[in-house]
Amino acid sequence: MFLELPNYNMSLKNGAAEINEGNLYLHRLLDFDSIMVELAYIMYGKDCYYCKRKFSTDSEELKDTKKYFSKLTIDHLIPKEFGGPTITNNLRPTCVDCNNTKGNLLPYEFQYLQDKKREEGVKEIKREIKQYKESLSDSQERRRFGELEVFPEDWLTECPNNLLVNLSILNPLGLSYRKIQNFYKKYRRINKVVVFSKNGVLLDGLNGYLFAKYEGTDRIHFIMLENVIYDGLII
Ligand SMILES: [Zn+2]
Repeated sequence: MFLELPNYNMSLKNGAAEINEGNLYLHRLLDFDSIMVELAYIMYGKDCYYCKRKFSTDSEELKDTKKYFSKLTIDHLIPKEFGGPTITNNLRPTCVDCNNTKGNLLPYEFQYLQDKKREEGVKEIKREIKQYKESLSDSQERRRFGELEVFPEDWLTECPNNLLVNLSILNPLGLSYRKIQNFYKKYRRINKVVVFSKNGVLLDGLNGYLFAKYEGTDRIHFIMLENVIYDGLII
């Protein structure tokens, strides 16, 4: 798949990354997540994606900018809990209210409830969400968490033969690894997607990848970003 990028050239993170002719070049493996968040704000602006509340303004509301910005967050369209990756295609600026309300709902579920909110008001949506979540039986919940189709089909690819893993980027294991372990125990799949560059360098999802190797399972998803190239050192 192609990573959504601004359609002009620019430098990021003090030259550690740059966008050139529609490609993102990573010269160093810095915090990939934070590059994605920065790009999401650049591309999708600073209005809430769901309720359309404006957070960016250069007029009267400017004096309240600080207050407004503090309430803008980044939402994962496909929730992190289901493995939604931190890539621009899956990120939208969202006010903290909408983000909290959406929680781990899938985009179409939240949209349905948003429409209700417009018709029936805020209290109604909160009740509706509570009811919706309570209505999921254990087996439905399991199916929901096991839903492979939460990902658009054209996002996914096969596991690359020679995935290059730069172990200097992250501390593997720890809390994130244990969360993956627990999720796997319950749902028999790994709720982290392995994201890698066009030249096969792992950018995100190291713990999921290590866990899949350890379990010997293929119940994990891979995404190749065809317009992202890592051209730094591999350690
Ligand atoms: Zn909102």
